[in-house]
Amino acid sequence: MRFSQLLIPTLKETPAEAEIISHQLMLRAGFIRKLASGIYSYLPLGLRSIRKVEQIVREEMNKAGAQELLLPMVQPSDLWQESGRWQKYGPELLRFTDRHKRESCLGPTHEEVITDLVRKNVHSYRSLPINLYQIQTKFRDEIRPRFGLMRGREFIMKDAYSFDATDIDAGLTYEKMNDAYHRIFKRCGLSFRAVEADSGTIGGSYSHEFMVLADTGEDTIVVCRECSYAANTEKARAMETPIPEPVEQLPLKKIETPGKRKVKAVCEFLDIFPENLVKTLIYVADGKPVAVLLRGDHEVQEVKLQNLLGADEIRLTDDKETFDFTGTPTGYLGPVGLHLRIVADLEVLKMANFTVGANEKNFHLQNVNRGRDFTVDETADLRMITEKDRCPQCGGELELTRGIEVGHIFKLGTTYSEALKATFLDDQGQEIPFIMGCYGIGVSRTVASSIEQNHDKDGIIFPLPIAPFQAILLNLSTRDKEITAAAESLYEELTKQGIEVLIDDRDERPGIKFKDADLIGIPFRVMVGKSLTKEGKIEIRDRKSGETISVTQQEAGDRIKQMIETAMAECRV
Ligand code: ATP
Ligand code: MG
Repeated sequence: MRFSQLLIPTLKETPAEAEIISHQLMLRAGFIRKLASGIYSYLPLGLRSIRKVEQIVREEMNKAGAQELLLPMVQPSDLWQESGRWQKYGPELLRFTDRHKRESCLGPTHEEVITDLVRKNVHSYRSLPINLYQIQTKFRDEIRPRFGLMRGREFIMKDAYSFDATDIDAGLTYEKMNDAYHRIFKRCGLSFRAVEADSGTIGGSYSHEFMVLADTGEDTIVVCRECSYAANTEKARAMETPIPEPVEQLPLKKIETPGKRKVKAVCEFLDIFPENLVKTLIYVADGKPVAVLLRGDHEVQEVKLQNLLGADEIRLTDDKETFDFTGTPTGYLGPVGLHLRIVADLEVLKMANFTVGANEKNFHLQNVNRGRDFTVDETADLRMITEKDRCPQCGGELELTRGIEVGHIFKLGTTYSEALKATFLDDQGQEIPFIMGCYGIGVSRTVASSIEQNHDKDGIIFPLPIAPFQAILLNLSTRDKEITAAAESLYEELTKQGIEVLIDDRDERPGIKFKDADLIGIPFRVMVGKSLTKEGKIEIRDRKSGETISVTQQEAGDRIKQMIETAMAECRV
């Protein structure tokens, strides 16, 4: 294709609205344009990358035995009423009423529609398993659409839904999808980790998120430096620390700590370590107060807490609410004599003779012991894992890094099939609900993530498999007949060989062409200019390494092909 004919509206300046690098570069490189908040047009270059991700996804889904279909984007409210999500989904669901006063929504996801389709058309275990997928535009009325394609309101997703007859089969399907996802992101040329994710009330490790590793990612993930263990912070565990030998319980002591409210201040004042202090936080879970106990140097992981409490919504109280619930100002709270539901992190159970607030302004208690001085209602792992913790699988060092969620696989079980009464006859003639799984990939987000992971000060550095073109051929002197003839003939040769090449045939200065080529991030830049007329040489530059080689006109085609093949081999599965 020809640069002169394609719509590639590159920008010199970084648009002020774009906060993160992928958004800035996608705007500057002429990949996308904003229509409204969180809603973007995909321009030719942007669409080419999106299509490449889609193609890889499609091939791997088909290979894993899933079948492609396309479901409607507009979904009637009745189905959502049936699943209970018409209320539950909240304002992210964009609802509207048509001329016949029928309520509908724009699909943010398709569990309801697919379950309805399957319950009406699949009736026997003989038709199972079945796995159906689509690649489609989704709409979610995100509260804070931002970062361009990273968190849009309208975006492209691949969503797959599986239906199995037994739990064991559903597990196998899940493994197949897990494997397909690994292949997909490897083939996209991305550096990623599959992490154990929180699966809410369903439990177990039946949910994995696929994270593209990038310093700018929204999510923090915990990865082991030695083994394959990786989890998001909502799910991350640590190797159990040993249970200490029992020690003598010392007499409880009340001590004045004037104005010392923060862990650090109390510890300095009393000359103790945060590991010897238990802090008490007051949360409101679905309107009810609950006290949360944690070791002084630990932080709450709110999703873990929410799961333990089984609450729809939890939040930390402010100073006023804390006082209203406990009669004590923040900073002096403790479990002794506290008349609230008390939950504690597991590490608290291992402590003895520790310090807590005395539930009285300017006082703390020392030598506190659980059992003797207070009791807890429930205990669980409630804390954020830190780099001081050890891997739960191998005991290795843990590292906290950042990632961007590009995919999510989930074993659903019978949640939707039961709600929508989607059943089949098993081999005993019994009518039972399908066992479902769902599997999403943010296609447009994947392209943005690849840029977040691969760029430099000059622009995008696309992984070859998802670059809009494999090579860009610069005709550096369109007014020179010899150069133009050589560039055009090489363009033809490469195109004939099946290489996706963009020829920059604009009547522009070389400097502008170099800048644009770097900005749009095409992996190989082929330059036909003065070195051709002077020495008969064409230059090929690798966008990633910056290395340039000089070859003869005759060699050029084969060399480029070879370089592309070598780079593609790295992403093969
Ligand atoms: P997030 O936590 O980022 O909101 P999610 O858990 O809501 O994601 P899923 O419902 O699992 O996402 O959707 C599947 C995939 O769709 C996600 O892994 C992500 O890649 C993509 N995705 C979700 N929301 C958006 C969005 N607003 N813009 C672009 N991609 C999105
Ligand atoms: Mg979301």
